[in-house]
Amino acid sequence: MGERARPPGRAWSGRATRAEIDLDALGGNVRALRSVLPPGGSLMAVVKANAYGHGATVVAREALAAGAERLAVATIGEAAVLRRAGIDAPILILGAIDPAEAPAALRLRIELTIATETLLDAVCDAARASAPGRPPRLHVKVETGLHRYGAEPDLALALARRIADDPCLELAGAFTHFACADEADDAFTREQDAAFSAWLGRLGDESIAIPNHHRANSAGTIGGWAGETGIARCGIAIYGIAPSPDAPLPPGMRPVMSVRSRVARVFDLRPGDTVGYGRTYRCERAERAALVPVGYADGYPRALSGTGHMALGGGRARLLGRISMDQCVVRLPDGVDVAPGHEVVVLGADPAGVAPSIEAVAEMAGTIGYDIASRIAARVPRVYVRSGEAVAVEDGLGDPDVV
Ligand SMILES: *Cc1c(COP(=O)(O)O)cnc(C)c1O
Repeated sequence: MGERARPPGRAWSGRATRAEIDLDALGGNVRALRSVLPPGGSLMAVVKANAYGHGATVVAREALAAGAERLAVATIGEAAVLRRAGIDAPILILGAIDPAEAPAALRLRIELTIATETLLDAVCDAARASAPGRPPRLHVKVETGLHRYGAEPDLALALARRIADDPCLELAGAFTHFACADEADDAFTREQDAAFSAWLGRLGDESIAIPNHHRANSAGTIGGWAGETGIARCGIAIYGIAPSPDAPLPPGMRPVMSVRSRVARVFDLRPGDTVGYGRTYRCERAERAALVPVGYADGYPRALSGTGHMALGGGRARLLGRISMDQCVVRLPDGVDVAPGHEVVVLGADPAGVAPSIEAVAEMAGTIGYDIASRIAARVPRVYVRSGEAVAVEDGLGDPDVV
């Protein structure tokens, strides 16, 4: 993951196809989420999956600078990337890790989620084998209805007691995760919320002190389920993407990513010509087309073939034929002619409102915004922009000569 500082003001001169990451929008979104939390609340910025495709290291730093107190990821490898970059904030692994990874987690000072005796045993062993004085910080995950990675309430209580009673371990928190916080009907969220509160009550009855408890993801936070003193675990909203059509973002939050490219070739099509593999598009009248060097291997969903569009020359350029691995062809919008090198907004943030949003692309591709953002490929450089200028670049292929 080669990240290099760039002198402010320099325009991007690498691969035409890149993902621009608007750090001003990111900071604004973090501040907006922070402001909807109750007074005792705090924000955990979820930066798993390379910050949902936005670039974990730069996003983590920006989120912390904008008021997030903690970070969360899904794997030890993701946490290691952040620690290697010198990020010292608390980092929680949200799900299961392999017990064999426990020693690595301790070395990296990563907080772990515990929902099984097996993992707790491994963490215990690792803690006893490592230097005293820095007990691993653990969060117990309570099952309240998602049925993914959580301990049923009785087991969760036993795990919490075991951690609290063991001087080699630290009970740092407990949490649960909502199944339907992004749906209009909040009946099940209410049930899960009540079940978690009841479990916290049992913990209190046993005088087990727990400094942090957390339940809400982005949709839950926006919906007001973060809890009195809870931590909000927010991912998707930080990136300015709505969790679902039923859970829109509050006004003022803005999309952070735009995938952009430049026209590689402009050419004429005659009636009867076909475009692309399988010849799924056949011209009926003479038209002008542009080749755009973005394809499904960049994470541009192939499902958009023949139906999607991108922003070109102020208009909608419709996709013609199938999206290939590395390139695709669009029709120049009516009344628009451009030369090679012309800027294209493929998807995401577009001040002109012509390019499809990540949510719109997701809808067309039959999936969710999370899936679209997180699949933008490593070979697409991330160009970080502040006040309209490129300030850093990250090339996931790690080749320092690319730029
Ligand atoms: C990914 C994840 C989140 C963040 O969810 P968003 O909907 O992106 O805010 C929160 N909690 C857990 C346990 C997760 O796995």
